Amino acid sequence: MRCTLLVLLVTVGVASAAKRDYPYTPVPFTAVKVGEGFWRPRMKTNREVTVWYDFKKCEQTGRIANFARAGGLEKGGFQGIYFNDSDVVKVIEGAAYCLALAPDKKLDRYLDGLIAKIAAAQEDDGYLYTARTINDPKYRYPGMEGRWKHLGGGHELYNVGHMYEAAVAHFQATGKRSLLDVAIKNADLVCKTFGPGEGQIVDVPGHEEIEIGLVRLYRVTGEAKYLRQAKFFIDMRGRKDKRGRIYGTYCQDHQPLVEQTEAVGHAVRGGYLYAGVADVAALTGDEGYIRAIDRIWQDVVDRKLYVIGSVGQHGAGEGYAGAWKLDNLKAYNETCAAIALALWNHRMFLLHGEAKYADVLERILYNGFLSGISLSGDKFFYPNPLACDMSFRFNHGSLERSAWFGCSCCPVNIVRFLPSIPGMVYARRGDAAFVNLFVAGEAGIDLPGGSVRLTQQTDYPWSGKVRITVTPAGTGEFALHVRIPGWTRNQPVPSKLYTVKADERIDWKPAWKVNGKEQSAPLVKGYAVIRRTWRAGDTVELDLPMAPQRVLSHENVESNRGRVAVTRGPIVYCAEGADHGGNVLNLYLPDDAKLTAEHRAKLLGGVTVLTGQAQSARRGADGKPTSDPARLTMIPYYAWCHRGANEMQVWLPRTRRLAKLPPLPTIASTSRTSYSHKHGPDTAAAMNDQQEPSSSADHGIPRFTWWDHRGTAEWVQYEFAKPQKVSSVEVYWFDDTGRGQCRVPKSWKLLYRAAGKWKPVATTGPFGTARDKYNRVEFDPTTTDAIRLEVQLQGEFSGGILEWKVK
Ligand SMILES: [Zn+2]
Repeated sequence: MRCTLLVLLVTVGVASAAKRDYPYTPVPFTAVKVGEGFWRPRMKTNREVTVWYDFKKCEQTGRIANFARAGGLEKGGFQGIYFNDSDVVKVIEGAAYCLALAPDKKLDRYLDGLIAKIAAAQEDDGYLYTARTINDPKYRYPGMEGRWKHLGGGHELYNVGHMYEAAVAHFQATGKRSLLDVAIKNADLVCKTFGPGEGQIVDVPGHEEIEIGLVRLYRVTGEAKYLRQAKFFIDMRGRKDKRGRIYGTYCQDHQPLVEQTEAVGHAVRGGYLYAGVADVAALTGDEGYIRAIDRIWQDVVDRKLYVIGSVGQHGAGEGYAGAWKLDNLKAYNETCAAIALALWNHRMFLLHGEAKYADVLERILYNGFLSGISLSGDKFFYPNPLACDMSFRFNHGSLERSAWFGCSCCPVNIVRFLPSIPGMVYARRGDAAFVNLFVAGEAGIDLPGGSVRLTQQTDYPWSGKVRITVTPAGTGEFALHVRIPGWTRNQPVPSKLYTVKADERIDWKPAWKVNGKEQSAPLVKGYAVIRRTWRAGDTVELDLPMAPQRVLSHENVESNRGRVAVTRGPIVYCAEGADHGGNVLNLYLPDDAKLTAEHRAKLLGGVTVLTGQAQSARRGADGKPTSDPARLTMIPYYAWCHRGANEMQVWLPRTRRLAKLPPLPTIASTSRTSYSHKHGPDTAAAMNDQQEPSSSADHGIPRFTWWDHRGTAEWVQYEFAKPQKVSSVEVYWFDDTGRGQCRVPKSWKLLYRAAGKWKPVATTGPFGTARDKYNRVEFDPTTTDAIRLEVQLQGEFSGGILEWKVK
């Protein structure tokens, strides 16, 4: 009986709705030609740099060899992490999109070779998971105990979900079935293995993604069982009655989906689930699904969305931290989470046809997503915080953009998402064409009355001017729906989470010109609706009111109280150290400071910056806080951290109270620091920044090291602002025994400068090399303008300093 009910549960809807789909149909990215403007150079870099760079990294890190080894094409064990298969297929998906847009024989051949390895790795019955197939006794991972035994933590279904997406993309781009056949064989095994029937397994993937992949496979093959399978995996979530165990909120597996009301758990998993639910809802008409994702979406935009359009906080398992928890320094905002959120919001538009979903999508694209990739296309952020204090190493241990990560889901997600963005610009329904994003270029849209070409000319997001030229095949009546962004109505996001400061609200009545004549009408679901009989060459012009605006956060967001973010159009701005002598956390922006926009074509790939007069807080001679006027330059958030590691802040204090005061002036803090050698990412300022180490292995504060010099004699020195009488120093050594190759030095000594010559200080020592404490040396009081610390590093090791005090 239970089984019969289950069958009903998962089959109802599919059979009766063969032709049902999203009410709004996206215009595919292959029908959209991106012209000269903001996105074209980024797509070019993605195609020419990132695709090959990611493949090279996949080769260097054994990700590709894993397929060859599982397939018996080469000998060797498993390398990396058990979900690394997914990285390779994600790059294939991105490469396939590039191939669909422009032929590339070299890339096509490369994919053929790679796919042959993947096909070889597939077991006879269709199973594909190299970690398990190689079964390396030296490599233990969740699920070693057997197939499908650890779906909560293992990624068997996650990996192949991405593989299905890649296979469909590759098939559509090249017409080749090589990867598609692998996908079908695997999906058939999954369908046979999981389900309500006799001998089948009732379980769900801990990391969602296969739902989206199965739907794509259904769309290209027409095989309803793939859609049913996606629905099964969704329906079985959070069902204690049907399954032996459930995986909890982290995996959105705490309640049946149709009862869920809040976005919880791992933010990438959540985004993929909600996107997959939207797909299945569109194809089956399941109202319960739609109600659930509507509620969850509202929860996100009301209480959990960062102003840059991303989600997740450190300390919350790469996920949602709860309502109003939007810490800036500890913002996680995984690049993958931004992508998942974008995929979901695009689908919400396709379901409901409302511009507010495109408002969120646009915010993600220009901010929380785009920050994840460097202008050069080969440096990445995994988390995307809204502040950097040069202490919290937010980017998986780094303060800068990284070349790669051990878990490298983000770089390979960017490479597949970026070329698909043109597919989110336009849509159609009935005899209406929709313009959701302002992207220069042209698109062909099929409407019932014939095809229509839309050409956009625009410098968006720097300018609000957009000119759309309409060219129908003949003469035809249809409606053009042009999105009027929420930010023109002072709504940074479609909720009360963020508001524009009262005196900076834009007072603009939505208006547009048709063939030069001004028109205005109430918006419909956020769109200007222009219905007429169109003739070739007709134009629609927008002049969206772009102005710098201070944005305030809902009072419940504690971390943003007393602070403002600054936006202009869809772009969120930040202040970065590079424009302010290194520090920005000491800055505050008084409410009456005017901000002016200025385009700088040569800065950071061409950006519009905002400048104005801010204040810089400091300590006066009496040690009390005071401030000085400071020139403020704000750059688009997405473009930060291209000029070295430095401080950054999105939410600026409005008053001095929240500005960070520089350290108390001491002999050390006012000294000029120099050294014999320094490891690139380290900072010499670590030695005199007055950040107290918790231990010699403290990785949470800035450090200075001589890495990668080992066993050498090295030095650092302080040159004083003016001659000082000094009589002691305290040194806190950096030593990461058990993790890295830095140790306390073998020995050291202290010199002072007299008449340009270095002389040893007069002391009987000792020169301590103890870990986890300050090593103090007193000496005869000496008046000098500089002191130098010389070390002899231990044989095979390097060394470093966390703090060095002088008195
Ligand atoms: Zn990621």
